Amino acid sequence: MNLHEYQSKQLFAQKGVPIPKGKVASTAAEARSIAEELGGRVVVKSQVLVGGRGKAGGIRLANTAEEAEEAASEVLGMRIKGLPVRKVLVDEAADIQKEIYLGVTNDRAARRPVLITSAEGGVEIEEVARTDPEKIIRVQVDPLLGLREYQARYLASSLGLPREQWREFASIAQALYSVYDELDATLAEINPLVITKQGRLLALDGKMVIDDNSLFRHPDLAEMRDVDAETAAEREARTFGLSYIQLDGSIGCMVNGAGLAMATMDVIKLYGGEPANFLDIGGGASAEKVSAALRIILSDVKVTSVLINIFGGITRADEVARGILEALGEVSTTVPMVARLVGTNEAEGRRILAEADMITASSLADAAQKAVAIAEKGAEQ
Ligand code: GDP
Ligand code: MN
Repeated sequence: MNLHEYQSKQLFAQKGVPIPKGKVASTAAEARSIAEELGGRVVVKSQVLVGGRGKAGGIRLANTAEEAEEAASEVLGMRIKGLPVRKVLVDEAADIQKEIYLGVTNDRAARRPVLITSAEGGVEIEEVARTDPEKIIRVQVDPLLGLREYQARYLASSLGLPREQWREFASIAQALYSVYDELDATLAEINPLVITKQGRLLALDGKMVIDDNSLFRHPDLAEMRDVDAETAAEREARTFGLSYIQLDGSIGCMVNGAGLAMATMDVIKLYGGEPANFLDIGGGASAEKVSAALRIILSDVKVTSVLINIFGGITRADEVARGILEALGEVSTTVPMVARLVGTNEAEGRRILAEADMITASSLADAAQKAVAIAEKGAEQ
């Protein structure tokens, strides 16, 4: 789950990261009164869950409260990378001397968190990594020990910060690491962390990604979810506990188990097709869940054939078949479907599907070839 800038910065601030004074507004009038309250120059910032808002015109400096109102009314009407702007953050503007990047994420290869920093902040860190990889400094953190003081100082010195700023930088790095650690984040990022003309460090931007699998123990964070940023299909998938990722192809897939879902996508590609999605219905899925999964797959207009691949262990093939029938009773569709059901209660499952005129297959290879052939025919029409 992605958090908005204002939410991330609030969480950072609770651990002692210095952030600009500011508040969130949903209307231009509110933005104006926040600007009046703050006094002086402000920055009006679109709150959407994508990067590069600055380049897209979603970050505006305003010298007066009137200008802030005007900027807010423009920004609140924008869509940035397809997402509508419903809120703006009105922050006291900072006088920037230098922009630094500071982030914590998981280093999967090292199986540890890693702190990443660069003196080339402000722009996207991926870009710096591509063009000037030597300008990125990393330290891996032992999760049992946490970020050590000497590591934070090493980062500060490698950035070339003057010595009088090491302590402040180190405490920000420590705070950021502890937010990341305690809130089960997969990313906690400040870009830019600025040095102001007055020589202070200040987090101007904030981004957090929380591990969805940990939300059960962070109910307060779960409530911060912005449902506007999800597509209807993603929202429905989440409600039913399905893992769904939409892709660009034409063959909808419904599979139980993430590994089998990936293998299924590979086999579709092997036979020249393109999967329309990744969808894992999970273990022991109920008919209701299967029905939701099929509705979600069919809501994608690019789908011209569906491949259902179920390996019945805990999941029972007859239960899946009943779910498919239930879904077909609710949505009328002409999209052909190929099913391969094996394992627990497979005979009963196949009998149910055969009655529903579904194409069945004996192996995954067979099922994938049939689904690809149908999708190609669909594309020709
Ligand atoms: P992003 O483009 O979505 O990453 O949004 P940011 O919050 O990082 O803002 C983009 C850029 O706007 C920053 O890198 C700064 O250069 C600039 N910016 C943001 N806030 C301020 C501010 O308070 N004062 C000034 N002068 N520039 C700012
Ligand atoms: Mn940024």
